[in-house]
Amino acid sequence: MHEFDAIAGGWDAVCSASGDHGVLRLSAFRRVERLPGAGAPPAHLVTYRCADGCGERHTLLMSGEELDWSPIATALPAHFDLMTGRMAVEPDAGVERWWRSMRDGHWPVTLRCEHHAGPVPAWPSCLRALEPDDERDVRWLLVHWRCPLCECDGSQVMRPAALELVPRAA
Ligand SMILES: [Zn+2]
Ligand SMILES: [Zn+2]
Repeated sequence: MHEFDAIAGGWDAVCSASGDHGVLRLSAFRRVERLPGAGAPPAHLVTYRCADGCGERHTLLMSGEELDWSPIATALPAHFDLMTGRMAVEPDAGVERWWRSMRDGHWPVTLRCEHHAGPVPAWPSCLRALEPDDERDVRWLLVHWRCPLCECDGSQVMRPAALELVPRAA
């Protein structure tokens, strides 16, 4: 299981070259392959750029749950509760913030599919490939995806900020 860090907005990933821990953000994904098989939830082979480590590409096996559910379901880290004078975690805080964010139209991933009038609410597992303009200084990425509503393939240019897995709380 790759833990999701709600503050950093990414999964915990270990560089296989240096052994260092880093934060794997969605904008560092380069390829997402859904593995064949009847597994439910399906497994995905993620190729990503090791941004915090060696800079090379690594692969990671991630379940659909890790990809799509853990970013919104992760509780915020333990904090000091002034009321009780103890360390506390709010297990539902992440879901609550995301629920408000999605209600306001900010989903984990938002796509523009030509077959629908408005923006399409989507998930990390909908992405197929991300091609940065410049790997060392990414200003934008050509993102290829599969639309979760009509299953057709499409692509669009996105800025790294559009791929941040952080709820936009009002
Ligand atoms: Zn690495
Ligand atoms: Zn569509």
